[in-house]
Formats: sequence, structure tokens, C-alpha cells
Amino acid sequence: MNKKFYITTAIDYVNGLPHIGHSLEKIQADVLARYARAKGDDVFFLTGTDEHGVKIQKTAAEKGISPKKLADANSKQFKNLKKILNLSWDEFIRTTNVKKHWPGVFKIWEEINKAGDIYKRTYRGLYCSGCEAFKTESDLVDGKCPDHNCEPELVEEENYFFRLSAYSKILRKKIEEGEMKIFPDWRAKEILSLAEKGLEDVSFSRSKEKLSWGIPVPGDDSQVIYVWADALTNYISAIGYGRDQKEFEKWWPADVQVIGKDILRFHAAIWPAMLLSAKLPLPKKLFVHGFINIEGQKQKISKSLGNIVSPNDLVQKYGTDSFRYYFLREFSPFEDGNYSEAKFRERCNADLAHGLGNFAARTVGMVEKFGHPIKNDFKAVDLALEQRIKTVQKKVDELLSGFKFNDALAEIWSLISFGDGYINDKKPWSQDLPETEKEKALFNMLVLLNSVGVLLSPFLPDTSKKITKAITLKGKFVQLKTIPRLFPLFED
Ligand SMILES: [Zn+2]
Repeated sequence: MNKKFYITTAIDYVNGLPHIGHSLEKIQADVLARYARAKGDDVFFLTGTDEHGVKIQKTAAEKGISPKKLADANSKQFKNLKKILNLSWDEFIRTTNVKKHWPGVFKIWEEINKAGDIYKRTYRGLYCSGCEAFKTESDLVDGKCPDHNCEPELVEEENYFFRLSAYSKILRKKIEEGEMKIFPDWRAKEILSLAEKGLEDVSFSRSKEKLSWGIPVPGDDSQVIYVWADALTNYISAIGYGRDQKEFEKWWPADVQVIGKDILRFHAAIWPAMLLSAKLPLPKKLFVHGFINIEGQKQKISKSLGNIVSPNDLVQKYGTDSFRYYFLREFSPFEDGNYSEAKFRERCNADLAHGLGNFAARTVGMVEKFGHPIKNDFKAVDLALEQRIKTVQKKVDELLSGFKFNDALAEIWSLISFGDGYINDKKPWSQDLPETEKEKALFNMLVLLNSVGVLLSPFLPDTSKKITKAITLKGKFVQLKTIPRLFPLFED
């Protein structure tokens, strides 16, 4: 039986439209899913949208439409990223899906309740409507929410609470022992130090008057389930929790959960504590990426700041694989990075049009000029070239298991440089070179180009297909189709 590989992204909040930050996360997860599939794993790749909450209710009211209508329209935009970014997800879960998602939410609520971890209490707290969350004093900077630069309001209401505090110790142990591995390591340390101070119980429901756009608390119509059990549960509801136990057990626990740094605490503290309370295993790995900032701007990308760069516009202008390449290659997977369109063009011109594009065109051009069929003779592959390919394959594997997409691509490009060096060294165009030597050199170049094509398949699926479909290294002679120009040069 094949190894299973279950990977999730965060589900996006439909109060806005997709921007390049959402896109990076989906592409990162897509690379991992495609890579696992290529290795023969049985893969389930989940993404989706988070559609309840006061903000949706408010925005819909402002537009004079129902929350459902707003959620439908915006969710569709996120779903469309599949085509725009060439994503390979298997399922798109929506938290408004009563049939698929809600049974899992009810079940986890009941399990946590059965464990004695849900209780009712009157809560007075500082609430930031921008975050849709209660804030503790330690979350605030000069009395203000640092993300929204506004003072939270004092709110009092009776809610259900989740006994998160009971899990501080066990959570620390699980993280320290690597039962749930957090990447990068310094994010794990952040959570460990939080847990060491002791986690506070969290509000698990809101009154129906405050939040009507949500899932009702089982057995209490006056309360609506707050974001934690509503949204985080998507990772298990989508694979059958609460409605198809067999399917659920096939996939859970997740092998990788991909999230942004802003939701680290939810995914590395609240979510695993909920799972422990419901007696479910923890996800194996949590990969936490940084944010994309716009070059020259201090604030993060957000709708309210009006600095959204649409993935749709960029892809229309530059193509899907250029988009994927730039964001995977230019940005550290863990740190924040700066986006600029000029850098985008620079990076794509240098690495794609020149680096990869030239190497492919050179190789194909020389083979065509040679004019004779080239034997598929793998004994003719130079040892140094063969070893180089193997080394890069191994490194890419290691780097991807640590989520280092940028370094993995750099490795593949080092293979392209090696190929360029090989051509310059062998000079297959030289009149002095015997035909058999020319044939051998050209065969080596084709083997290398084909390997680059294969290595690129999780990162740049279309480009990979163009290369590997053109070269057939089977039968007596190599069959080579002309490779269309892979990438244009972008002008300023
Ligand atoms: Zn806030």
C-alpha cells in the first residue's frame, strides 16, 4: 500500500479577495503535494474558505446583500486560484457547507464537552472587532491592537469557554518530543514559551445577538460557535470526521499543515489542545511561512490598507509558472519578504528566460543541427554528470522535507549552470570533435535537460511538461520534439 500524505493550507477568510500572500501559501502546499504524488504517495491536498463571523455579517450588510451571497461570491474567487496558479488540491472545503463541514463541528464540540473541557462563564474582556477576538493586556501595544491600531472595546457576555489552560503542560511535552514538529524551529520556541507561561482558556462561543452568522452550539440555541471549533475543524471535517469515520481514519493525522505566522498560536496551541481533548492525534508537521510585504511599505498587505496585489493580474501579465517561480525562489519560506514588480521581472528574466530557457534552447538547437539520430546509450552518460544529477535530486528531497523551496530551486539551477559549463567544455559544435564524441556530448545534455524537467515538475508543472514531453529517452534512438520558447524576456 502506498504511503498516505495529507496536506492542508489555512482556509482563507472571505471578507476580502485573494492577494499574493494567500497565493504563496497555496503554491508552497501545492509543491509539497505534487512532490509527494511524484514519489508515489497517496495524496490528499485540502484548501478552502472560512466564511462565518461578524466581519462577513457587517460587510454583507454594508453591501445590502446576505452573508451567504457575499461568502459565495468571494469564496469563488479563492476557488478560482486553482486554475490561475495551477494548484492541484483535491478538495475545497467551505465552512458554510452544512452537509460536509457541520457534522464534524458538532462532533468535536460534543467530544470536547464530554471530556469536561467546555464550561460556561461570564466574560468581561477587551475585544478588537478588527481581529474579531478578545485581547489580553499582553497582546496590546500602548493599549491598542497592534494589527489594527485601535483601542479594543470592553465587552461583557456569557459564553462557553474551552479549557485551554489544562493543556499547557502536555502541549509543551508533545512539541518538545517532536510529536508535532513546528517549522521553523524558532516558531516552536515561541509557542513553548507561551505554554510555559501558561495558556489561558479561550471563549468558544458568542451570543447569538452578537454573532448570528455561524454554526449554532449543539443544545443551546442562544449561542453560536466561535471561530475555533467552526474554522479549525475544517481540517478534519473535510476528510470525514463526524460523517465518515473510515475515510477520516485513512487520512488523519495531517502530515503537513501550512499556515501563516499570524495564526501560529491558533494552530500550535488551540487546535492541538482541541484535538487532545477530543482524543485525536496531532498533526505531524506545522510549516509556518512569513508574510509578503510590498517593497517600500511598512504595513502588511490588507484590504483595509488598499495595497492588494492581485495574483490574477500578475499571472495574466507574466504567466503562471513565472509567478510560481518568483514567489518560491525569491522569498525565504520562513521570514517576511518584500515584493516588487521590478524584482519579479529581474528574477524571471535572469533565471527563466536566460538560465533555463537558454539552456533548453541551446541543447535542442545543437541536437537539431547535429542532424543524425542520437542513440539512447546510458552507458555514455558521464560519471560526473550522473553524480551531479543524483546529488541534486537528493538535496532537493532533503530541502523540501524542511520546506526550503528557495534553496531547492537554487539546487536545480546549479544543475543548469553545470549543464552550461558542460556544453562550453565539450564544445559539441567543434569541427575537430569526432561524430561519436559529439553524439555522446549531446546525449549527456539531453539527459541533463530531461532531469531538470523532472525536478521542476512540482514547482513549475507546465514548464516541466514542455521539457519532459519533448524528450523521449526510450527505444533505440532519442526522440526529440522542438521545445517551444519556455519564457519570454519581460521588459520594464
Ligand atoms: Zn485587531
